[in-house]
Amino acid sequence: MAHVVKKMTPSEILAMKKELSYAISDKTPPGAVFTAKLVECTVTAYNSGKVLFQGKQAEETAQKFAGQVSQAKVKSKNTVKPPHSYAPPDNVASLSIIGSDEVGTGDYFGPMTVAAAYVSASQLPLIKELGVRDSKNLNDKQIIQIAKELIHTLPYSLLVLPNEKYNELQQKGMTQGKIKALLHNRALQNVRSKIPNEKLDGILVDQFCEPGVYFNYLTKEKNLLKEGIYFATKGESVHLAVAAASILARYSFLKEMDKLGSRFHTVLPKGAGPHVDVKAAELVEKYGEGVFDTATKKHFANTQKALNLLKKKRI
Ligand code: MN
Repeated sequence: MAHVVKKMTPSEILAMKKELSYAISDKTPPGAVFTAKLVECTVTAYNSGKVLFQGKQAEETAQKFAGQVSQAKVKSKNTVKPPHSYAPPDNVASLSIIGSDEVGTGDYFGPMTVAAAYVSASQLPLIKELGVRDSKNLNDKQIIQIAKELIHTLPYSLLVLPNEKYNELQQKGMTQGKIKALLHNRALQNVRSKIPNEKLDGILVDQFCEPGVYFNYLTKEKNLLKEGIYFATKGESVHLAVAAASILARYSFLKEMDKLGSRFHTVLPKGAGPHVDVKAAELVEKYGEGVFDTATKKHFANTQKALNLLKKKRI
């Protein structure tokens, strides 16, 4: 099997881990920072800074994350594929685009939300005027305020996958990547059907997996949007439609977290850090283990950590 070894800096490894978060494996070999299982490549980053890429796509994946692959270390055929053929054109920012993005995939509590929104070329200045930009640079208050404007301005679709449903799909063996792909495609489809007469220049998905993997997830979908589709990482900064979708998805996530929290008479924390384990343990103690099904993404490591906290408490 092809394999490539690269030396990467800690910050490069961290950035790669973030980008591959959807594919991170629960099991990590000794001395490793993380293992990510992509469809045709397994990536293992070690504390030493060495990163091992294994599988059919080893070379391409190494190329993507670690730049120029030194030929001496390439054990397979030495052709390097271009990034992918779904990269948006250079002038994409000025085109009429439906964009999509998701929120909540890394948060232990709360649903996954996916939004798609259409921004025509003529609407770009207005959308910019409303303050739409990368939602990572906006606080919750700004998100809510801008989202409320967008809802009245843009054709959009907003999908919420409640925790019960998420856990059910996950337990049936569906990966988070596949769940994302299904919801993105559906949201994009919904928006597309709202604007049958628009002259659309394309569709831009905030890339969460390789395009080939995305289409593999969707082989059984009857309504697959494939024509004119582009994928770009950091899509929010590539086209305002993705930035708008991201704001709508985040707005929806915030609302759902509020609702879910009030069901349990508390404020649910975001993320998946230790504070989340503490809150989960607290809720399980009060309401029983059903909380894992109704309020969390049960397959996250936080579930076991919360149970461990409870065990310790009982000793
Ligand atoms: Mn995204």
